[in-house]
Amino acid sequence: MGWWVHSSFINRHHITTFTVGYTLLTRWFSSAFLMQAVVAARKGRVCQKHQEALNLFCKDDEALICLVCVQSKKHKDHKTVPLEEASQEYKDLFCKHLEILKKERERILGCNADVMTESQALLKQTTGEKLEIVAKFRKLHSLLEEQEKLLLTQIEEVEKQVAKNRDQNLAELSEALSSVDSLIQEMQETCQQPASDLLQDARSILKR
Ligand SMILES: [Zn+2]
Ligand SMILES: [Zn+2]
Repeated sequence: MGWWVHSSFINRHHITTFTVGYTLLTRWFSSAFLMQAVVAARKGRVCQKHQEALNLFCKDDEALICLVCVQSKKHKDHKTVPLEEASQEYKDLFCKHLEILKKERERILGCNADVMTESQALLKQTTGEKLEIVAKFRKLHSLLEEQEKLLLTQIEEVEKQVAKNRDQNLAELSEALSSVDSLIQEMQETCQQPASDLLQDARSILKR
């Protein structure tokens, strides 16, 4: 048959889709978190240490910093960019991810169609196999019925033969019995005859 080959293909397909989707989402959430920081800063948040506006973004720390922070030992060798620039960079990144996600969405929809097509083909196949099974068993049933009839007919023939033999044997026995009976009667009658008659008949009776 081989329908299980199709099934495993579908499963593998789904796992790949899921893995790709998950990786993308993880990246997106990480970026989303940074975007939130950027937006928060725009709303006028100030550096808690220096009370200056958080107008810069340190790429190494992925954190918003102020003009004083940028000169500190901590961020001295770090790559920093203006807030607007960082914001634009992340916007671009989001757009890129958005495009990828949209493509992924299309791909998933395509997979959906594939799954439907495959399942329809498999169901068509199983329907065909069901019909085949029904036909095969119908044939087997009729073959068995024929065989049953044949065997029963043979047994009935044997039964008839047994009855015929029985009747024949009974007839022969009955014939033998009546001939013995008539002989017995004749002998009894002879026994009651006078001595001279008895001797005369005895020879012919015993000859039988
Ligand atoms: Zn600061
Ligand atoms: Zn830094």
